[in-house]
Amino acid sequence: MTQVSLRFKIALALVIVCLLMILVDEFIVLYFVRNDVPVNLTTQLITSGIISAIITSIFAFISASFIVKKINSVNKFNQSNADLSQDFEELSFLLGDLKQLIPNKHEIKLNLDKISMSAKQIIENELRLENFIDALDRSLAYSKISVDGNLITANELFLDVLDYSLFEIKEKNFCNIFIDSSDHEKYFKLEEELSSGKTIKKFLRFRKRDGSLAQINSIFTPVFDANSNLDFYLNICIDVTNDVHERERIIREFSNRLLRSNKDLENFAYVASHDLKEPLRKILIYGEELQENCSKNINDEGQFFLGKIIDASNRMNNLLSDLLDFSRVSYSGPNFTKVNTLDLINEVLNDLSISIENNKAIIDLAINTECLNLKADRSQLLRVFQNLISNSLKYRKKDITPFIKISIEDCLGYKVISIEDNGIGFDEKYKDKIFEQFQRLHGKDEYSGTGMGLAIVKKIIENHEGKIEVSSKQNIGSVFKIYLPNEQKEESNLKFLNNGNDSSEKFSLL
Ligand code: ADP
Repeated sequence: MTQVSLRFKIALALVIVCLLMILVDEFIVLYFVRNDVPVNLTTQLITSGIISAIITSIFAFISASFIVKKINSVNKFNQSNADLSQDFEELSFLLGDLKQLIPNKHEIKLNLDKISMSAKQIIENELRLENFIDALDRSLAYSKISVDGNLITANELFLDVLDYSLFEIKEKNFCNIFIDSSDHEKYFKLEEELSSGKTIKKFLRFRKRDGSLAQINSIFTPVFDANSNLDFYLNICIDVTNDVHERERIIREFSNRLLRSNKDLENFAYVASHDLKEPLRKILIYGEELQENCSKNINDEGQFFLGKIIDASNRMNNLLSDLLDFSRVSYSGPNFTKVNTLDLINEVLNDLSISIENNKAIIDLAINTECLNLKADRSQLLRVFQNLISNSLKYRKKDITPFIKISIEDCLGYKVISIEDNGIGFDEKYKDKIFEQFQRLHGKDEYSGTGMGLAIVKKIIENHEGKIEVSSKQNIGSVFKIYLPNEQKEESNLKFLNNGNDSSEKFSLL
C-alpha cells in the first residue's frame, strides 16, 4: 500500500514538473511577444526552453531530494520491521520450547507444593536429629577416634568420666592417653577386629587424669562417609567402676562366708571323726575281748554276728581314719619345705616292699636325677605317692606280673610325675568321679578300701597349687599324672581353699 502511494506521488510530481515547464515556456514566449523583443522564433524557443529547464530542474531537485528522503525512511522502517519479525519468530520458538518443558500450570503448582513439603520435612528431621543428638549427648559418654587412632573429639560426659578437658586430649593417641598398659594388647586386637567393619564391645581399664583406674564397658563402631570410606570410630564408654567394685565386694563377702563355712565343715568332720573314733575303739576292743575270751559261751550264730560287728567296726574305723586324714589335710594346710621326690618315692617303695615282693611287681623308675627337688609339704606328698603306688598294686590284674612305671620330669617350672600301671583300669567316664569322697568303682569284697584315698590325694595336690589327672582303659591299665609347681608362694595356710580351677588353664599348656 505504501509502495503504491509513493509511485503515485512520484508520477504526480513529474506531471506537475512537465506542466510547469510548459507554463514557464508559454509565459516567456508571451513576454517576447508583448514587449516586441526582436528575436527570431528559434532564439525565442531556445531561450524559453533554457529558462524553463532551469526552473524545472530546481523544482525537480527539490522534489527529488524530498522523495529520496521519503524512500530512505520507508526503507529504514522496512528494515526494522524485518528485524522485529525475526525477533518475534525467535521468541515464539523459545516460547514453544518452554511450553514443552512446562506442560501445565497445575502440575507446576503441585510440584512446588511437594518441594516445599519436603523442605519442611527436611527441616523437621534436622531438628529431630539435633534433639536426638542432644539427648545422646546428655545420656552417653562418647568420643570420636580418627582412623589413625587419635582422639578427634569427646562429649562432656566422656570428659567427666576421665576427668580431662578436651584441650588436653584432642588429637592425642587414644590408646596412649586412656588405655591402661595391662589392656594395650586387648586394644590392639580390637583395632584389628574393627577393620571388619563390625561393632565391637570390650571391657577395658581406662586411666583417669589422676592415674586411678576406671572400669569401662566400651563399644567401638566404625563410621563411614558418603563414599563408604572409613571416616572415624565412634567410642561409647559406660563407666562400670562402681558396679565392678560392688560385685567384687559381694564376691569377697560370699567367698569369706564360703571360707568360714568350709572351715566349719572341716572342723566338724575333724572333730566328729576324731570323737567317733573313741567309742568305736571301745566297741572293737570289747568285741575282740568277747571273741577271744568268751567264745565258749557264745553259740555259732552269736559268733557269726560278733564277727560281722568286728568287721564293720574295723571298716568304720578305717573310714573315720581316712575322714580324719582328709580333714587334717584340709584343716591344717601344707607346711612347705624343700623335698626330694626320689627320696619320697623310695621311702614309699620301702614301706610297700612286702606287697611288692609278694606280688612280684616290677617297678620302673624313669627319673631325671637333675630335676628332683621341689617345695612341698613332705608328709602330704608322701601320702600322695603312698596312695597312688598302693592303688597300682591293689588294682593289679591277677594273672599277670604287675608293672609300675614311675617317671619325674621338669616342664615349664612344674614337676610332672606320672604313675603308670598295667592293672585292671576303669571306664574313663569315671575319671572325675574317682576323686570324690567315698567314691569306689570296685566292690569291697573284691578290693578293700574306703573310697577316700584319691579324694585326699586331690586335696593335697590342690594345696600345692597343682593338678592331678588320670587316663585309663579297662583291662589295660591306668596313668595318673600330677603337675606340681617347683616353687610355692609363701602364703597363709588358707590358700588351699583356692581350688585347682584357677590352675586348669596353666596345665592345659603343659
Ligand atoms: P579306695 O582304693 O580306697 O577304694 P581310692 O580313692 O583310692 O579309694 O580310689 C577310688 C576308686 O578308684 C577305687 O575304688 C578304684 O575303683 C579306682 N582306682 C583307683 N586307682 C586305680 C587304679 N590304679 N586302677 C584301677 N582303678 C583304680
